[in-house]
Amino acid sequence: MVRHFLADNSLGQLLDWLSRFGALHGPIRTAEGVEVFGPVQAEDDLLLTCRRTLIPPKKYLLPPRQVILNYTAADGYTLPDETAPQVILFGVHPCDLQGIAYLDRVFLGDRPDRLYRRHRDAITLVGLSCEPDEFCFCTSHENIPRNADLFLQHVEHGFLVSTGTSKGEGMIAGLEPLLSDLNIAPQPLSENRMMTRLREVAKNGETFPDSPLWEHFATRCLSCGACSVCCPTCYCFDVLENGALDGTTAERFREWDNCLFRAHGEVAGGTNFRPDRRERFHYRYLHKYLGFGALAGEPACVGCGRCRVVCPVGIDLTELFTEGGDARP
Ligand code: SF4
Ligand code: SF4
Repeated sequence: MVRHFLADNSLGQLLDWLSRFGALHGPIRTAEGVEVFGPVQAEDDLLLTCRRTLIPPKKYLLPPRQVILNYTAADGYTLPDETAPQVILFGVHPCDLQGIAYLDRVFLGDRPDRLYRRHRDAITLVGLSCEPDEFCFCTSHENIPRNADLFLQHVEHGFLVSTGTSKGEGMIAGLEPLLSDLNIAPQPLSENRMMTRLREVAKNGETFPDSPLWEHFATRCLSCGACSVCCPTCYCFDVLENGALDGTTAERFREWDNCLFRAHGEVAGGTNFRPDRRERFHYRYLHKYLGFGALAGEPACVGCGRCRVVCPVGIDLTELFTEGGDARP
């Protein structure tokens, strides 16, 4: 594999170059001190050492609230005429790239979602290597995810730049003065022990029905939904409609929903398939760790660690299948 070397002090030039292809976004810190993906105005805005943003890049593909149909009495329902702006998403870590690959499988599978496609096509992914902390359990922080158009790996005094797609190759054509070629063998896969265990759990369909942890989780959970909002592979949504009182116009939109909310399992007639928290945790567990439908046996969790960081009461579902969990009351 040919990789190019980019010196630290040439990063600004690379960013300027990439900005020609779309609005540059990456990890930045807001005025309130929150690390988020957002517009990058200057090289200094970029948080190159940011380990995880609060919300993953899924917000670029599935906006928290999105109009999916417009209605007028004259034309009936029509698709919104929304165009997605070109965005260069810089600094996406391997776990989030894997999260996007998962969403692609869901939304671009046998019944592609047109709005998702529109946003996905407008995004260029520029990955960035990272150092795991005690919350992450991603497998691939030393490997190049296949869906990165470009991938930058931190090395001494600079970055190794790889191209993962023809789009990425096209984008760096013309940058030769900044890049020197290196012939380096791909890094060996470094498997995290927890991810290895998770894959085993998913493959075997382990559900731990008798674990006392279910009750422990259900008693403490506040149903705040933070663990789902921050998860790069959580995509549950609700579909709602806002109509004008005179019935002439309406907007139908989808907005993020959350399986830990009581209303998530409610259906017409007042029935609720998951009225209590324990059942909602089971549901979350099945979908997050065992996969479902065509994705059964493959965990949806990419090990970003966000849910472990944000839960206000320290709930960590992975305890069900780790040694720590076995030791809990
Ligand atoms: S379940 Fe938690 S650790 Fe896994 S991908 Fe979602 S937020 Fe990250
Ligand atoms: S973040 Fe914690 S408290 Fe909030 S819904 Fe998730 S498990 Fe419950």
